[in-house]
Amino acid sequence: MTTTVNCPSCKAHVVWKTSSTFRPFCSKRCQLIDLGQWAAEENRLPSGANINEQNPINIDIEDIEALLSEQPDDFFKS
Ligand SMILES: [Zn+2]
Repeated sequence: MTTTVNCPSCKAHVVWKTSSTFRPFCSKRCQLIDLGQWAAEENRLPSGANINEQNPINIDIEDIEALLSEQPDDFFKS
């Protein structure tokens, strides 16, 4: 049985096998086109998007550190 996929760039049928180096793309050209589109979309994102993604992580780490610093005191008191 042969698995085929559609090339994301040109929708051509691509046989899914190890020799299909650029799968799911039909060719290196289509792979580069798709990578170029991804890079262009990332460049279009406003810089604020990165800050919004990083802030929750920083808050979580601070909360965990606060919990860790409080925890030993409670253990020593009891
Ligand atoms: Zn293609």
